[in-house]
Amino acid sequence: PEVVRLAVIPGDGIGPEVVAATVPTLRTALEAEGHRLDVASYDWGGERYLRQGAAMPADAAGLVKKADAVLFGAVGRPDVPEHELVWGLIIGLRQQLDLAVNLRPVRAFPGVPTKVRDTDGVDLVIVRENTEGEYVGAGGVAHAGSGHDLGIEVAVHSRRAIERAAHQAFALAGRRSGHLSLVTKSNAMRYGYPLWDRVVREVGEHYPAVRLETVLVDAMAARMIQAPRSLDVLLASNLFGDILSDLAAVLAGGMGMAPSANVLPGADVPGIYEPVHGSAPDIAGKGVANPVACMLSGAMLLDDLGHTGAARRVRDAVAATLRDVRHHTADLGGNATTAEVASAVLHTMESQG
Ligand code: NAD
Ligand code: MN
Repeated sequence: PEVVRLAVIPGDGIGPEVVAATVPTLRTALEAEGHRLDVASYDWGGERYLRQGAAMPADAAGLVKKADAVLFGAVGRPDVPEHELVWGLIIGLRQQLDLAVNLRPVRAFPGVPTKVRDTDGVDLVIVRENTEGEYVGAGGVAHAGSGHDLGIEVAVHSRRAIERAAHQAFALAGRRSGHLSLVTKSNAMRYGYPLWDRVVREVGEHYPAVRLETVLVDAMAARMIQAPRSLDVLLASNLFGDILSDLAAVLAGGMGMAPSANVLPGADVPGIYEPVHGSAPDIAGKGVANPVACMLSGAMLLDDLGHTGAARRVRDAVAATLRDVRHHTADLGGNATTAEVASAVLHTMESQG
């Protein structure tokens, strides 16, 4: 039997609620395959910031490196400045571990209602560059308060970062349908996105079996709603990947259904697996958050550690549970609690043997 060493960072708001629903499902799935789960939990987030002035300790990356993988809930609370938690924890940790790629799969589960019509069979993955682009934090403000204020935000796109994301996307597309859609905006932007087009085409020469198309981001937004089944793997910059993945989540029932993985393929650092959603202060503490996004993030974690059998158990149990509207949380139009969904998933897993 193998032991999976999991670092858990529940965080703020609904983060701890969805993580508490997820850890037992991962443990049960691993044990059904004859393995064990060993959990180290870290109380990083808003409360720690208010107590100690920092959301996480300085050696946070060193601590989680002892684990095989990290399960993260969410951060953010109304009484703490956003950047202290978003940059001070999750973005900081992603950067310290150099987790260059963010994978965001979107799958429409049978029985789950969506606000968009005809989403049956939607199954796509957005591969998002995770370190730079419009989110590098370069720029500044000039002439502040003069009435002619300028906010200057500089986007940075490096060949290295594009190549890392592109290799991941082509490899993934090769394992799936062999179809990759690169999302850029090279008709209006003159330097960064044309570099994307060029570098991704070059990387594609190593993957002759994958068909590459390039789509402008505005056209992609429309196509995602009108013809989502024409999409399989999308490769996008940090900004475009962020926006398109929230849009894509709607095809699967919304933010409560969207998992993600921050990874650095080929490197010996733990990935961070987390729901795409935030801490949802509007519903926090009520026990009604949808835990599925977090559970599916856990399934990605198990897959990446090679525990594909356990991952399949989690996904199959989630899928079976979601077929019954009595197990839908409020975001899906139901009235199940987080704990009820969690116990339904566990029960299904146990009955599937
Ligand atoms: P959010 O994702 O927290 O919530 C958006 C909406 O979706 C809310 O109405 C919320 O109730 C709903 N929602 C989200 N997850 C849900 C779930 N699992 N089940 C049911 N409903 C769910 O985004 P926001 O409101 O823009 O941000 C709230 C806080 O979260 C902010 O402080 C923000 O900075 C932070 N945030 C953190 C992360 C992260 O930790 N990675 C990501 C996004 C936002
Ligand atoms: Mn986002």
